[in-house]
Amino acid sequence: MSTQRQAPFLRLFEYADRYRVEIWKASACSVLNKIFDLAPPALIGLAVDIVVQQENSFLAGWGVRSVFAQLIVLSLLSFLIWGLESLFEYAYKRLWRNLAQAIQHDLRLDAYRHLQAMELSFFEERSTGGLLSVLNDDINQLERFLDGGANEILQVSTTVIVIGGAFFVLAPNVAWLAMLPMPFILWGSIAFQKRLAPRYFAVRESVGWLNAQLTNNLTGITTIKSFTAEEYEVNRIDRLSNEYRHSNQRAIALSAAFVPLIRIIILVGFTATLLLGGLDAAAGTLAVGTYSTMVFLTQRLLWPLTRLGETLDLYQRSQASTRRVFKLLDMPITVHPGNKPLPVERVKGEICLENVTFGYLDRSAVISDFSLRVPAGDTIAIVGATGSGKSTIVKLLLRLYEIHSGRITLDGIDIQEILLQDLRRAIALVSQDVFLFHGTVAENIRYGSFDAKDEDVVAAAAIAEAHDFISELPQGYDTVIGERGQKLSGGQRQRLAIARAVLKDPPILILDEATSAVDNETEAAIQRSLDRITQNRTTIAIAHRLSTIRNADCIYVMDKGKIAERGSHEELLKRQGIYAALWRVQMGGKFSVEERG
Ligand code: ADP
Ligand code: MG
Repeated sequence: MSTQRQAPFLRLFEYADRYRVEIWKASACSVLNKIFDLAPPALIGLAVDIVVQQENSFLAGWGVRSVFAQLIVLSLLSFLIWGLESLFEYAYKRLWRNLAQAIQHDLRLDAYRHLQAMELSFFEERSTGGLLSVLNDDINQLERFLDGGANEILQVSTTVIVIGGAFFVLAPNVAWLAMLPMPFILWGSIAFQKRLAPRYFAVRESVGWLNAQLTNNLTGITTIKSFTAEEYEVNRIDRLSNEYRHSNQRAIALSAAFVPLIRIIILVGFTATLLLGGLDAAAGTLAVGTYSTMVFLTQRLLWPLTRLGETLDLYQRSQASTRRVFKLLDMPITVHPGNKPLPVERVKGEICLENVTFGYLDRSAVISDFSLRVPAGDTIAIVGATGSGKSTIVKLLLRLYEIHSGRITLDGIDIQEILLQDLRRAIALVSQDVFLFHGTVAENIRYGSFDAKDEDVVAAAAIAEAHDFISELPQGYDTVIGERGQKLSGGQRQRLAIARAVLKDPPILILDEATSAVDNETEAAIQRSLDRITQNRTTIAIAHRLSTIRNADCIYVMDKGKIAERGSHEELLKRQGIYAALWRVQMGGKFSVEERG
């Protein structure tokens, strides 16, 4: 792709096109601020000129005769210049910072939106930490550069052009001396920065490892405590933190030497101007005012160059970050969204899988030549050993993955053609691993049905047998349940997930081991409510406890991605196959528990 090879900053400029006017304004303010900032040495020169030359001064040439009047003019000029300098400083700071904020906001939102549209396997191949670092660190890096770096580069350039130009006009034979250190400073900065870059990279790497470990530990704190691994973890953090410290020390050792070294180079330029300019001034070939201005200006010219290393560093880092952000934005979205609208009200709910074959990325087929038909409004059940591919079927129905061959239809339409949003709106999934968001109980139930009324939320909770325990929580429906819902029990989380599905009220309901984490009593209660809510809608129930699905219209027994048996509960028992064997084991298990109890 040509866009990949394009310089990242050009890409950024293209991206920031809508801010073009702002960028020009900010740049102009940076340049103007610098010009006014460079004026004071000229004022000093003029002051010396006035005092020494009196009636023959530069200003006198403009018609201001008396020394007093000349000094008044000079004072007014100073006020004007300093005022303008301050004004433009305020303007450029505001403009650049707001630009940085605006561009970072746009980029972050675009990157997030793009990321959210990527298919599931994309996320399985990457670490959350890595993606987070693009969305956070890399975008912040850009902000930092726009905040200060862009202005810095503009101002240094302005300084060199203005002062360099002034030198060559004022005293061409001294100018080259003042300019002499510049190539060395530039070369030194770039060489330095090249040395420093790998050390900074090492610092970022080690802080990355440290952060990854810290995040891991904080999420696994229960495991750490229950296995009394605190000491072990402290040692691990100690080691990683030490690595971070050492890599920083290596970077500091080098970066701290930069300014002192550059200062020596500057000293050469400064003393040369001082010495040779002084000789010229004493000989009368250089005006005293010009001489004093030049001595000041050499300082002003060379000092900002010491910051060049830092600025280049900032530039390089943000360049790398920009590349990473755009790499993300350039990733193609392989899931095509479909184009046939199928509004929820019109969905009847007939589902067909015809000779479907699918396997995850580089693994062999998980589902092969799989066919299944669910008539609209029916309840079917899928049972089978763990790992036999039951949840995979669900993910295929939701089009979280694309099938390799075969066809899946909803109401006779290929699901690849249905608008993805409409397809997913038609299905509510209660899965075995419930995910709750940090927020209140009510917010979590309302997730996906954001406009639902409070009464409806309560009604849905009641159907899911969740209302009673919610009422006993400290703040009822407004209780905050913590990250991933960790302040609730597994069964409570599952009931909230069911309430969420009930509230969505979809034509198709999929329960993937939805009651696996609740006790028998609650399960019986949920089962009653499920019997109610599965009426008049297509339901696919996946369960390992066969007692919960025995009333299904048809039961499919899966084995290694294929359907091994199918039929009603009674038919399957008569077959004396896998199902009958499973049933005997589970009934026997239950029996013995009851005996012991
Ligand atoms: P189950 O019947 O227990 O729900 P699954 O459909 O979850 O089984 O898994 C079927 C097989 O696919 C298993 O062998 C599992 O290891 C594999 N599998 C599941 N999810 C993924 C994934 N995201 N990437 C690779 N393999 C997977
Ligand atoms: Mg499963």
